[in-house]
Amino acid sequence: MKLKIWAVVLVIVIGIISFWVLRNVVFCEECGQQVTEMPQDATNAVYDIKFELNEAGEFQVAASVDVTNDSSDSWSEIRFYLVPNAMNSVETPLYEDEELEIEVSAVSVDGQEAAYNLDNNELMVELDAGLETASEAKVAIEYSMVLPQNGMRLSQVDDNYYLAHWYPMLGHYQDGWDINDYDPIGESYDTDYGDFTVTFDLPKDYLVASSAEDGPIEATSTGTVSGENIKDFYMAIMNPDEWEFETVQANNTDLRVFTPRSANMLEETSELAVDAYVYFEENIGDNPFGELDIIGNDGYMEYPNIIEVAADAASQESVLVHEIAHQWFYFIVTNDSYNEAWLDEGVTEFSSSLFLSDYYDNEEYGFWGALTAEEYYPPETYVNLPLDQFEDESYYSTIYGKVPMLLKEHFDLLDEDEAALEFLSAYYKEFQFKQVNTEEFKVFFEDYFEGDQSEFLNSWLE
Ligand SMILES: [Zn+2]
Repeated sequence: MKLKIWAVVLVIVIGIISFWVLRNVVFCEECGQQVTEMPQDATNAVYDIKFELNEAGEFQVAASVDVTNDSSDSWSEIRFYLVPNAMNSVETPLYEDEELEIEVSAVSVDGQEAAYNLDNNELMVELDAGLETASEAKVAIEYSMVLPQNGMRLSQVDDNYYLAHWYPMLGHYQDGWDINDYDPIGESYDTDYGDFTVTFDLPKDYLVASSAEDGPIEATSTGTVSGENIKDFYMAIMNPDEWEFETVQANNTDLRVFTPRSANMLEETSELAVDAYVYFEENIGDNPFGELDIIGNDGYMEYPNIIEVAADAASQESVLVHEIAHQWFYFIVTNDSYNEAWLDEGVTEFSSSLFLSDYYDNEEYGFWGALTAEEYYPPETYVNLPLDQFEDESYYSTIYGKVPMLLKEHFDLLDEDEAALEFLSAYYKEFQFKQVNTEEFKVFFEDYFEGDQSEFLNSWLE
């Protein structure tokens, strides 16, 4: 009898120890790979957004954001990006599209009306009492907006609505608020991870695809979607008559693919998407999200868990692979894309060139896009410049051309198979769900290659 009790105790103790040892290392049984775990409590912004679209194409938005002060400073204000306010030619000189109309009707903090200032794409909300470290404030913002027809990113195209950077996005606080003016050349907003619940009410049934896990594809006029650890929340609202769609499986993620009926490219888009997604998971690392939406609307843009790709078969390949790679570099490893676009765009273009090289077993073909970009215009010496210090042409040739080409050269010299992918995999593992900057990249690079790499790094990183 006594022995039996001891045996039971031993089994329980072993169980507890195994649980603690194994809880941080989870393996996917099908693929035999380490699985990326979603971080817990990693965000300081919890968004609850409700919006209504009426038949005239006007959005009424009520956004409530629970903001936690995750810094060691006391805050006297909270700053958000409200990009729609800069989507006109008065605020943004380069802006050429039809202008977006926005009207803010109410701003409150913890239920009390609050003073605020709206300047370019920055919304500054004053706090009557200071917000101390680890304290929370509920900021509520109500506004209406009409999207520009065929605008850039945040746009209405016929009876389709593309909601990019459409809500008050909490700025990233690091030794102060650092919100730059909207710059359409790249992504000028630097946001951190947040948790989202978005409730929508539409005038009729639409196809809805968002940064959340939306589930089976069916047209609907109302719904609530939610997701955690999302860097910025995008949503497409599409007229069901214009799209064909299907859901395909890439490892344990659903890819929901939407292409225009007129383009007749659903099958090839889905096939290439699965191949690229599986390649990045197997060579760089597990993507912990369950759904990626792919919209062939000629947007050429990445958002968390959803991408806008080409609407024609000729441009589709390079754009599709590039935007899928952004899920690893931009979203899961994130950075300030205003000041250091090379970290998201350059590393992404390098990754997609590696995929295309392997896919066709042809390196020249795989890096053709990067080489063409580099030769298109003389690149800058240093690649880690803020957006406003590039010319349009040198931004493109430096970030999409020079960065992938010099990384290729470095790994080619090592003359080891898979050296580049192994490096990207280690880098992904180190920085997932974190903000990385040039300095941290340099330190990681030197540690990884165990020695002084300053001659190489200092020749292109300022
Ligand atoms: Zn990109």
